[in-house]
Amino acid sequence: MKKIIIAIDGHSACGKSTLAKALGNALGYTYISTGDMYRAVTLYFIENQIAIDDNEAVAHALKHIHLQFKTDENGNHIHLNGRDVSGEIRKMHVAELVSPVATIPAVRREMVRQQQAMGQQKGVVMDGRDIGTVVFPNAELKIFLTAQADERARRRFEEQKAKGHADSLEAIKQNLLDRDRIDASRADSPLRQAEDAVLIDNTHLNHEQQLDIALDLVRERVREESGN
Ligand code: C5P
Repeated sequence: MKKIIIAIDGHSACGKSTLAKALGNALGYTYISTGDMYRAVTLYFIENQIAIDDNEAVAHALKHIHLQFKTDENGNHIHLNGRDVSGEIRKMHVAELVSPVATIPAVRREMVRQQQAMGQQKGVVMDGRDIGTVVFPNAELKIFLTAQADERARRRFEEQKAKGHADSLEAIKQNLLDRDRIDASRADSPLRQAEDAVLIDNTHLNHEQQLDIALDLVRERVREESGN
């Protein structure tokens, strides 16, 4: 079957990575969470006290940040300079700073460069905010995912509880609304639905239903690409 690029964008905490991961498994595609990349950069800035308005310090820091995805039986883990930071980057101190960091054009330029390199061979499902608009404007399938904010906050809260630590529901909801606002209003590659993206509101859909819808779209696009 011909391989394509699948771009999944959308609001914070609406299940983009869950869907992207499931699609990756079902299709044998590489799954890349670009949010993890921005979060890992943010963690580096926090740990090394990089002021985000200091352009020189940011440019210097970017040269010392090496990101890698490694897959094991527990999934896809991001490594920052050789250290698995996939747990650390989900914590609130990172979540609170990641959207301001993601407004920095030098950071975006470097992340986009790396993401485009990862998609060269196709067979990739990538989730984020600007994948269908900036990273892969020619992606064969673009999905824009959203859900009501209360439901998104509830899901994120349950997910954290299952892992043994949870911020308050109110703090989670506030954080995701703040991120949506900053992401959608920034000057450089703001979050928006690409004109040719398929909108899916998953407020009332379970994982299987979303995967079925997405797989149908994949089959349709692969058929189109193969010219029959
Ligand atoms: O996907 P996730 O919610 O983990 O992303 C964390 C943050 O990283 C987003 O709120 C956004 O500020 C930033 N981001 C971005 N562009 C992407 C992916 C994530 O600006 N492609």
